[in-house]
Amino acid sequence: MRTFKTALTAVFFLFSAGLFAQETETETQEEVREAGHINQNKFRQLYQEFSTPNQYRTASGAPGPAYYQNQADYKMDIELDDRNKKITGSERITYHNNSPNDLEYLWVQLDQNIRAINSPALLKDGNGIAPVTRPGSFVSEYMKESFDGGFNITEVSRDGKPLKHLINNTMMRIDLAQPLKSGESYTFDIKWWYNVNEHTVDRGRSGYEHFEEDGNNAYVIAQFFPRMAVYNDVEGWQNYQFWGNGEFALPFGNYEVNITVPADHILDGTGELQNRKEVFSKEMMRRYERAKKTYDEPVMIVTQEEAEAAEKGFSDKKKTWKLKANMVRDFAFATSRKFIWDMMAVKVGNKDVMAVSLYPKEGNPLWEDYSTKVVAHTLQSYSDHTFEYPYHKAISVHAKNQGMEYPMICWNYGRPDEDGNYSDRVKYGMMSVIIHEVGHNFFPMIVNSDERQWGWMDEGLDTFMQYIAEQEYGERYPEDIAPNEKYPSRRGEPAKIVDYMKGEQDYIAPIMSNPENVYQLGNNAYGKPATALNILRETVMGKELFDYAFKTYAQRWMFKHPTPEDFFRTMEDASAVDLDWFWRGWFYTTDYVDIALGDVKKYYITDKPTKEGIELLKRYGISDPGSLDALYVVEEGSDEMQEGMKGKTPAENAPTLKEYLMDNFTPAERQEMKMPKYFYEVTFNKPGGLVMPIIVEYTYADGTTEKVKYPVQIWRKNDNQVSRALATDKEITKIVIDPDLETADVNVDNNTWPQTKQMSEFEEFKANNQG
Ligand SMILES: [Zn+2]
Repeated sequence: MRTFKTALTAVFFLFSAGLFAQETETETQEEVREAGHINQNKFRQLYQEFSTPNQYRTASGAPGPAYYQNQADYKMDIELDDRNKKITGSERITYHNNSPNDLEYLWVQLDQNIRAINSPALLKDGNGIAPVTRPGSFVSEYMKESFDGGFNITEVSRDGKPLKHLINNTMMRIDLAQPLKSGESYTFDIKWWYNVNEHTVDRGRSGYEHFEEDGNNAYVIAQFFPRMAVYNDVEGWQNYQFWGNGEFALPFGNYEVNITVPADHILDGTGELQNRKEVFSKEMMRRYERAKKTYDEPVMIVTQEEAEAAEKGFSDKKKTWKLKANMVRDFAFATSRKFIWDMMAVKVGNKDVMAVSLYPKEGNPLWEDYSTKVVAHTLQSYSDHTFEYPYHKAISVHAKNQGMEYPMICWNYGRPDEDGNYSDRVKYGMMSVIIHEVGHNFFPMIVNSDERQWGWMDEGLDTFMQYIAEQEYGERYPEDIAPNEKYPSRRGEPAKIVDYMKGEQDYIAPIMSNPENVYQLGNNAYGKPATALNILRETVMGKELFDYAFKTYAQRWMFKHPTPEDFFRTMEDASAVDLDWFWRGWFYTTDYVDIALGDVKKYYITDKPTKEGIELLKRYGISDPGSLDALYVVEEGSDEMQEGMKGKTPAENAPTLKEYLMDNFTPAERQEMKMPKYFYEVTFNKPGGLVMPIIVEYTYADGTTEKVKYPVQIWRKNDNQVSRALATDKEITKIVIDPDLETADVNVDNNTWPQTKQMSEFEEFKANNQG
């Protein structure tokens, strides 16, 4: 048997510097203990932040055995008055109470009331006069007569008898004579009309654009009918008012919608067209049949020539388009006599889906070249990462300055100039917004999160998926991207979120905030969560673990209503990666990443007692160091450094070690051992609040490099400073933290050793102008 004692001592003293640090810390810990403290460890579990798992939602992040969701079915007749820009509608809602509770009243959402002349939303901001403003904002803020676009509710009834109801801004309570019992359904009717807003002026999510040149309007219509609120196990009734920023919370249901518009309009919307033969010409039918079998390029259903001919007229005849949709959470449509219409088929799994575009001629030539193709790509890319797109079509409608999503249909910006020219910025902006808005079919139209409460659950997940789909677009259609370039994604890459995260803390809110209460919604709900997920995928979990967990979440909550915890829990549950630290840091705080290189010290091994070594031994009651076979470390450049030590192996500097090796190992075993020449202690500081894995690239004297990833757990006991001991054959000449910029480190000036001082502009100028 080999003597164990000496072996232990060697290890013991090699890390004596670390031990000393711990000793001193213990003294301060004593003082702390007197004061007492709560657990602030960055790795503590999220028990305080998370709701308790239950029968509705389990600790694994999956729906529980008692999970339920209520359903709202709609039958609607809608008419658009194109001359007066007015929408009139009547609807029959059948609400199914699948909850275990009896409901005394029902809440209906009246989103258009945000445009009512007396809407408090008009008075919600308290930030005074902006020092800088755009002309458009200035005009709508100070120079426009107020527009009355609220709902005019003309009837709320059941079986023809008026129903008691109360309107509180954007919410309407229907008072029931008897509570709606668990498991029962309730049918009632609402009639209304409202003035359609000009979305190009008031920047609404829906409305019309007026084209001065030909006198026509293009309508993109949504939030146009009273919609049921969500009732569930986490919010009760989700009747948080619509203030404009927090989007929508909606139950699933089945829709039958008849929309009457001028006979010369082209219309498409959520759902399957029921009376195609009535509204299509024979030629359109022929083209449509061809489009269903064409997978490589869009087939024109209405050509630009035909659209231009239509926009010269104004039919006073009417046409009714009948649409039917099952298991959708909303309904929207677009209509105009200006629309060009193209479609093509795309394979999603074994199924054919139609990719569709509607656009006025003002969108060409950009729209005919890219829109439908981008829709098709988006469906395939998202389906690969989540679940197969379950609806039969996806439509991209061109509307100026719009980027807004609904089931099966969305509005997108991106318009060439009057001569049809466009820059790369316009082209990629258009492609990206189409990917984003079509992508919203997955989050939140199918994975139906509560947008009113959590903007990031749809925007963040969708922007993350958008980044992946954009990069995959470049792989699928390299001919559409500039040669040798990647698709220029605006968001997703870690370096792009740095400016936001290092910004003034007073103007940053945690991701886990209501969208109404944050300062920079774009960064808060889109950019930061998308980047966090990208970092989680690429750097923390790895693609394989992440992708499986992400898909599990999407499939578990497809056609259901997830909460943030359901997402957080599923990602852990399906991957065996503890992520509480990650969710807490990135989603519940505004901390940022800043990891810095501290001291890098070089050591030699000797068996001559050192001052520090003797002191440490004394603490352990050993007063005669000579009685012990001990190894000591000597820092390069210190007083105790001796002649000839440099560049020698430990065995060469310490006969004790050499003897030990000779006594305890055979020549063959000794041959197998590595005999490092260099010993380093590298210290990492963490000025930033977020804990992250430390990714380090070491460069050696022979020019070779080695990348090491220290797991995030390295910070678990001290989250300000940690040190690593390194034993190497080769001298280290350079150390870089996060060399590939994958962690969103806000300050890279402190990431390199030896410190390369950044030249000031003046110094650079001087250097460049000398000699
Ligand atoms: Zn979005």
